Amino acid sequence: MSHLRVGVAGVGHLGRVHTKLWKEVDGAQLIGVFDENRAVASAVANEHKTEDFPTFEALLDKVDALSIVTPTQSHFAIAQAAIARGKHVLIEKPITTTTEQAKALVEQASEQNVKIQVGHIERFNPALLAVEPYLKDPRFFESHRMAQFKPRGTDVAVVLDLMIHDIDVILSLVKSPVKSIDASGVAIVSTELDIANARIKFENGAVANVTASRISQNPMRKLRIFENDAYLSLDFGAKSVEVFRLVDEGAAVGAHHAGLTMKLGEIEKGDVPRAIIYEKPDVQDINPLKYELELFRDAIANDTRPIVSGEDGLRALEVAEQILLAIESNIS
Ligand code: NAD
Repeated sequence: MSHLRVGVAGVGHLGRVHTKLWKEVDGAQLIGVFDENRAVASAVANEHKTEDFPTFEALLDKVDALSIVTPTQSHFAIAQAAIARGKHVLIEKPITTTTEQAKALVEQASEQNVKIQVGHIERFNPALLAVEPYLKDPRFFESHRMAQFKPRGTDVAVVLDLMIHDIDVILSLVKSPVKSIDASGVAIVSTELDIANARIKFENGAVANVTASRISQNPMRKLRIFENDAYLSLDFGAKSVEVFRLVDEGAAVGAHHAGLTMKLGEIEKGDVPRAIIYEKPDVQDINPLKYELELFRDAIANDTRPIVSGEDGLRALEVAEQILLAIESNIS
């Protein structure tokens, strides 16, 4: 198989990590980088022994696929130009700033027969991968994504910058359309919302209570999931998972994983005796961003739908926009 020739557009904080990791992905060849800040591009190219292209078009000429890691406001124009030239694109999250732009990219990619993958990196987090075998019918989600203040990312509201990760994860787990959304939020230090909370109700009765802040003292990225007979606690930052579930007495436990399992007690539920089980599944030691790049490579090589497709990026953005509208209507 010939190597996938890749480039990186935008090599600031995250783009330099894409640059480093593309060099480690088997079956891919990093061709070079472009950044409108030539000094930054040159420094990153030197550090990672790759080429610093003088123009975006010059880089596009030489690649099959591109990581787009520029500020969100520029994703649309850059992706549009790349797709028009028949290049596959891995667009950092959020896909674009508006759903109209995201729809246009999805349509354009389908016409050009190229892949869009969106950088919702938590989908590649091994803690989420470890929890997936336990999920049957999630009824309630509680997510907290709290970050310390950094000027990066404040060109968009916290809903688009941070909350969108949890929106995307939850939409991937609830196989039902959104029924209604209530939300509130405040802009405290930037001109955009810095903290927001949304209650998302789904048509199948599931509910998600989602909170994101970028002005918190202590960072936290946690998701708690409740099912009829289980409570799953997931820490994206620590990459750990804890599961408390009810099983029929004598049922095989620990079937999903090779981790720690303890019986905490017994309880009657309905007319059967049941055991309360605590499990701490083993979580694989994988780098989520490298895994994300590898699966993008595979989707291109095998002509399959990327795990986080352009349509997924669009859906997450649609829900984020509804949350922003709900916040606006609550403020006014
Ligand atoms: P950054 O400001 O550190 O870097 C952006 C770089 O893009 C800068 O070097 C800038 O010079 C360059 N740039 C700006 N406009 C450009 C253009 N038109 N063409 C070429 N280069 C251009 O930003 P960052 O924190 O690296 O964020 C970049 C993107 O990655 C954003 O969309 C952000 O939301 C996303 N991001 C995702 C995650 C995640 O968890 N998946 C984390 C951080 C950032």
